[in-house]
Amino acid sequence: MKLNRAGAGLAAAALTATLAVTTPGTATAAPTADRTSDATASASTSAAQQTVAEENQERYDRIVALLPADWEQRRDEARGRFGIDHSPVEDILAGKLDRAIAASPDGVIDPTDYECAPTALDAYVDTILADIDPITLLILSLTGALDMPTYEAILHGSPKDADFALLPAYQQRLSSTFGYAQRFWDVRLDDVQLMAMHGEMLTDRNRVARTVEYLYGVGPADATDIADEIVAIVESDPALEGGANPIFTLNAFAFTGEGDPDKAIRKLKDKMVFGDGILDALATAGLGRIGPEAVLGHEMAHHVQYEDDLFDTDLEGPEATRRTELMADGFGTYFVTHKKGLAAKPNLVLETQQAFYTVGDCAFDNPGHHGTPNQRRAASAWGAAEVAYAANPNKVLPSLKLARRFEKVLPELVKPDAPGSMSAYRALVAS
Ligand SMILES: [Zn+2]
Repeated sequence: MKLNRAGAGLAAAALTATLAVTTPGTATAAPTADRTSDATASASTSAAQQTVAEENQERYDRIVALLPADWEQRRDEARGRFGIDHSPVEDILAGKLDRAIAASPDGVIDPTDYECAPTALDAYVDTILADIDPITLLILSLTGALDMPTYEAILHGSPKDADFALLPAYQQRLSSTFGYAQRFWDVRLDDVQLMAMHGEMLTDRNRVARTVEYLYGVGPADATDIADEIVAIVESDPALEGGANPIFTLNAFAFTGEGDPDKAIRKLKDKMVFGDGILDALATAGLGRIGPEAVLGHEMAHHVQYEDDLFDTDLEGPEATRRTELMADGFGTYFVTHKKGLAAKPNLVLETQQAFYTVGDCAFDNPGHHGTPNQRRAASAWGAAEVAYAANPNKVLPSLKLARRFEKVLPELVKPDAPGSMSAYRALVAS
């Protein structure tokens, strides 16, 4: 999760405003909502939270003093430069945070006040945010800490390292789906590494320090000092569960260093990384039956795109991103529903994806980034149709041929009224 540039500016203003209202003696303007009905308990909780928030603001100031002048730009660009996905759950969290910040002149920052859409995922995000001190959350966002498990996995993750081991509950399931996906496509995917990322790295100063060093380009000594502050912030709030709170790991992504201008990045192995948080979000939102497989299918489709050079396009900016994202939705669904893939029931897959994509108006800061929920649903329906109406259900189309078919259907998929049912694409598949 990252704040967009406008959001980051607002955030700085918000932090200043909040600093003003959280000084001792101005308890009426305390930024935290009282969540207990007992007035005495909430007063003391509020006071304790206020102290934590003040200490964390001081830590934030010390961190900023150690960072280079362009640190905000570095933070904002890091994610884009690695070319990795935002999950819809991250978009929900980002949208809530942006809105809370925008409204902060009132002295109140409470992301759970903002409803994106009455979906299970929106409710899920409120649940994981419920007890986190909002100022601490804002500081974690501003310092890039929310993305640190992601960057660490890219830079240092290895499937052989116990720090990146898949959770036992998902180990077998994800590994076997991953193996199916590697063998399903006609490109070389056996060098892609599957691993997990765990938010607990945020309480390990060495792991945070090596991530900070790369992210902000600071030296090892400053990186360690910054890491100590970040670890202290994460440990200051019990709701962060020592980094185990899902907010730190709400995404799954495909990474390749190929073509990166930085030699150190080019050398990194291709990866598929699953955050504990995204798996928890899917399970909690009732999307656990096929959700992890659908996400894996989408991310593996990005690796197919890397291998086939399918990122080449005449489109630019958000439209180019939307094209590759919708293609990954279509390819992912093709794999998950195909007889030679996972042979999952198309309706279950489409319903799961639909529920996963629906973020309401939360992703307002990146229009067209992944495509609208309707476009994503349409792309998945096309992928399922390519399976359901194929002349030979045992044949897997060559990935480049499937890509050409996708290019033909893309103008239909991005229409505002693009249909979301498989049958709507039957004629196109048969042609
Ligand atoms: Zn994607």
